Amino acid sequence: MTGTVHLVGAGPGAPDLLTLRAARLLGEADIIFHDALVHPDTLALATRAEKIAVGKRCGRHSTAQRFINKRLIDAARSHRVVVRLKGGDPMLFGRAQEEIDALVAAGIPVSVVPGVTSALAASADLRQSLTQRGVSRSVAFVTPRVSADTPDSAWADAAVAADTAVIYMGAKEAAAVSAALIARGKPPGLPVAIVENVSLPEQRILPTTLAALPQAVAALGDGPALLLIGEVYADIAVVRRVQQRRVA
Ligand code: SAH
Repeated sequence: MTGTVHLVGAGPGAPDLLTLRAARLLGEADIIFHDALVHPDTLALATRAEKIAVGKRCGRHSTAQRFINKRLIDAARSHRVVVRLKGGDPMLFGRAQEEIDALVAAGIPVSVVPGVTSALAASADLRQSLTQRGVSRSVAFVTPRVSADTPDSAWADAAVAADTAVIYMGAKEAAAVSAALIARGKPPGLPVAIVENVSLPEQRILPTTLAALPQAVAALGDGPALLLIGEVYADIAVVRRVQQRRVA
């Protein structure tokens, strides 16, 4: 027999930010290979599946990609419904293509179920649109984490070309991000919103500027974080103060 491997987006963290299709497939799954960051309540929807954690927590040990590909292929040869559950959307910084290519080469049917990527959930948390008439007409999703054979300035050029840039996997490289964007002409005072643990109760928003970014990230905990950079974030600090005053 050959089963189907479904690459499923788990969303940014909150278990109720999952698509209905993802929830249905979790219920039907025979075996699930999931990222480390997937919420326990999301995994709990998979009542009958064997659940296998396959790492992928930036900065920590993660299972080698080729080994994951092989395990997915082997699983599809002995299970009907195989789910590969990935944080956010599978098609953004999730190494989905390597898995799809390996599965297709092995003759295994693949489906992909989109998820809410963390940049969009962060925008919801911030109540700040990525685009805004007269301020931002373009958005770049970039990551400064590059492999040895990729020219390492391409991400910065893309971030500079866009009105709003969302940096994935960038908190640990904050000093390099700040320096690269300022060197390419972005103003040091450009507003930045750092959002940690998007969509979860532990969520934190830190408003800062491009120049102050390296110092600002020191206040982060060890949750995943995004750097959102652009003029649209000019009022984040003000909005936060008003909200905190209302809550207090
Ligand atoms: N496919 C995922 C991204 C995987 S790359 C997606 O679509 O969101 C991992 C990076 O995503 C992290 O380093 C962080 O920058 C970001 N990220 C993922 N979940 C997050 C969360 N809950 N809060 C903040 N950032 C998050």
